[in-house]
Amino acid sequence: MEHTLVIVKPDAVARGLIGEVIRRFESEGLVVCGLKMVRLAQKEAEGFYQVHRARPFFDSLTRFMAAGPCVAMVLAGEGAIGRVRTLMGATDPAKAAEGTLRRSFAASIEKNVVHGSDSEASAAFEIPYFFNRLEIVSPAERGEISVM
Ligand code: ATP
Ligand code: MG
Repeated sequence: MEHTLVIVKPDAVARGLIGEVIRRFESEGLVVCGLKMVRLAQKEAEGFYQVHRARPFFDSLTRFMAAGPCVAMVLAGEGAIGRVRTLMGATDPAKAAEGTLRRSFAASIEKNVVHGSDSEASAAFEIPYFFNRLEIVSPAERGEISVM
């Protein structure tokens, strides 16, 4: 069982795509274990994307991520990190595979709808960046109420 950090980026929140993004992940069997809306300060966006601090797009990226609210979530499932990345599609929507979130909805390589952790190490940094222990429910805890 893996956990990964997903962000519905400000472009997608502004365009009313929160539900569509979550639906794509849930319909593939990924389980939402934590969920919140956050408005990042630019310093917080810079901390989150610190691996990219030397990139030419860093200032623009972090301004974009702080320009409006995001929806952050923790998704769980077998191979969740890789499965989320596949469902997102390539960073550049022009290169993203048919049927992926970015191919369907992204306006540009920057305003590309969604973030997903790219490795176990990234997930281990990114999940606690947004969520404390009490804000993450285990899949087992979720399963206690049977409505099916
Ligand atoms: P993310 O980390 O957001 O899930 P990713 O792993 O597909 O995306 P990264 O290379 O980590 O891509 O880049 C982080 C983000 O920076 C991208 O999602 C995009 O918003 C922005 N970005 C990446 N490359 C460029 C670029 N060449 N020009 C502008 N923005 C870019
Ligand atoms: Mg990345």
